[in-house]
Amino acid sequence: MRNAHKSFGGKTVLHGIDLTIPRGSVTVILGPSGSGKSTLLRAINHLEKLDEGYVRIDGELIGVRVDGDRLRELPEKQILRQRLRIGFVFQNFNLFPHLTVTENVVEAPVSAGVLGKADARQRAADLLAKVGLADKADAYPRQLSGGQQQRVAIARALALDPDIVLFDEPTSALDPELVGEVLNTIRTLAGGGRTLIVVTHEIAFAREIADHVVFLSDGVLVEQGPPSRVLDDPQHQRTRDFLSRVL
Ligand code: ATP
Ligand code: MG
Repeated sequence: MRNAHKSFGGKTVLHGIDLTIPRGSVTVILGPSGSGKSTLLRAINHLEKLDEGYVRIDGELIGVRVDGDRLRELPEKQILRQRLRIGFVFQNFNLFPHLTVTENVVEAPVSAGVLGKADARQRAADLLAKVGLADKADAYPRQLSGGQQQRVAIARALALDPDIVLFDEPTSALDPELVGEVLNTIRTLAGGGRTLIVVTHEIAFAREIADHVVFLSDGVLVEQGPPSRVLDDPQHQRTRDFLSRVL
């Protein structure tokens, strides 16, 4: 991400963010409410359009192309194709309520034309086993706990075998006793070759899982580095204030 600027109705939410994330690493993004974490995450797969700056993945511009000296939006179809490489897990699960667990996981690869129905069902079965929900394959989302729904959402995000998975506060809508099972599921993905970018307030989890921690405040990237530095030896007062509130 280079020089990412974003405003909503005159209020600047991202003030020129530069961020480089190595392939296969785990990055945790921290910051107070309203600091721009979701906006930054959504900009990565062009759910949010930047006013200035750009995102590249493996050198490929996301959502835009160069036209003379400016950037132009790509056609929707090409943006959708680029998004196939990027899984997204939302705070509120966002499962399709009228589809079973299996159907939720099967939907994206089939409608994208990436897998046939039978292959997609096989892949869904494998992924559901991996997140510990093989026995819920035919249930509907409303029949599941929040933690189970979020694990289905993670299986769904993996259905297209994405290179990158973005998590936006995946545990903050959960009752405390359900947080662990979702963090465990995310933990199994770390180090598996995918690039994970996780917005979370779970500091202990960040310390354990992150290669890189980014602290955002008021749309500014205040500091970044390994957890041992940002979490245990922060250089900026704003980071210290934030950590003392959440720890
Ligand atoms: P939280 O921890 O509460 O999820 P956040 O760090 O994810 O916060 P963002 O959701 O990125 O913060 O929002 C940053 C700022 O941008 C907030 O002031 C928010 O109100 C504003 N904002 C975000 N999306 C929109 C939108 N679509 N229209 C107008 N303002 C928006
Ligand atoms: Mg947010």
